[in-house]
Amino acid sequence: MDQRLVMAVNAGSSSLKYKLYRYEGLEVVCGGLVDRIGHDDGIFKLNYGEEHLKEILPIPDHDKGVELILDALLKKGIVKDKKDIVAIGHRVVQGGKYFSKSAIFDEDTEKKIAELIPLDPLHAPAHLMGYHAFKEAIPEATTIAVFDTAYHQTMEEEDYLFPIPYELSRKYDCRRYGAHGTSHRYLAEKALGSYLKGQTDTKIITCHLGSGASLAAIRDGKVVATSMGLTPLGGVMMGTRSGDIDPSVSYYLAERLGISPSEVYDLLNKKSGFLGVSGISNDTRDVEEAYFKADERAIRASNLFARRVADYIGQYYVRLGGCDLIVFSAGIGENSPFYRKLVLDRAKEALGLDVDEAANEKAFAGKEALISTSESKVKVAVIPTDEEKMIAMDAVAAYEGRL
Ligand code: AMP
Repeated sequence: MDQRLVMAVNAGSSSLKYKLYRYEGLEVVCGGLVDRIGHDDGIFKLNYGEEHLKEILPIPDHDKGVELILDALLKKGIVKDKKDIVAIGHRVVQGGKYFSKSAIFDEDTEKKIAELIPLDPLHAPAHLMGYHAFKEAIPEATTIAVFDTAYHQTMEEEDYLFPIPYELSRKYDCRRYGAHGTSHRYLAEKALGSYLKGQTDTKIITCHLGSGASLAAIRDGKVVATSMGLTPLGGVMMGTRSGDIDPSVSYYLAERLGISPSEVYDLLNKKSGFLGVSGISNDTRDVEEAYFKADERAIRASNLFARRVADYIGQYYVRLGGCDLIVFSAGIGENSPFYRKLVLDRAKEALGLDVDEAANEKAFAGKEALISTSESKVKVAVIPTDEEKMIAMDAVAAYEGRL
């Protein structure tokens, strides 16, 4: 039997998520999380079949986190030798202007990611820590960086440039990069294979609607526009993020509240969106429940979200010159018939959508489904996303020299 394995890693500043796949066929073997890195009560989790291991212990740094993962994999016999992990893919949030696809994680890639720290001070240093920890533990593995922004690099200037003084855009690389690119790419590839096979000049709108949410307009498998901006704060309303607003709201609130730009930034990132408008929760399950109890603020938040998503769908319909398929995905898009309907109701007249209500109601909990009827001018599908698998697929491609 082929012992080779592939690992997908998502390293944050105090956490490290991992998923291990068989090389052949990319079947999931196990996964887990190291959390509260830097604390005495760090958490190590491993999910392996029916087994759910959890340990609380001091985890001073990412190196210790990786040591815990590899020791557990060896102890449980999941991995015979750590060298069996032949390829490792690291999720990296910001690839800036440098990366339009996944890249071998070498010194040059590391240097560029470090250079991009001002664009993503929260994640970039953590990605590098995760990379070093694995590199030290398994130096022989083919290691790659998979960027959230890479898939959006096909956007043209008209779509990514902000109308601020041009010299500032250039000097500080201040432009739209988008995010969730790995998810949008996975969805587009799945959608093309499943629903638009053999068709040329394909036009897809992918809606990744989770606690973070973004849309992408994809023509012939290439992104032409996406809703997130310089950072993941832009675009549609989200769990705690405002999405697009008049920029003067920042100035106005800073003046009225006597707070600093970073405090306003915090307010728009962490206290807005579903949480801020509903006053209930950032989790749409709670807001949806309150909606059906006729809670006014829950109704307002839900309608605001649906309007913004529908508006982007309309914008991208124009941008693409039509649309063959709308895809819903991520936590809300995959699990909530209610929010899908709320969005589609606001787009159906203009786009000639005909939604199969029964199919919509049945599509949740990881089910893939076409939820439009044959009468619909645009197909609508629910496709569960899988960013880790995409990362593992790229890691395999790199190992085989196909990246
Ligand atoms: P994600 O960021 O893709 O993991 O999505 C997480 C968000 O999806 C949660 O905060 C909820 O708002 C939403 N969500 C997850 N599961 C459900 C569900 N069963 N029904 C409705 N919304 C859900």
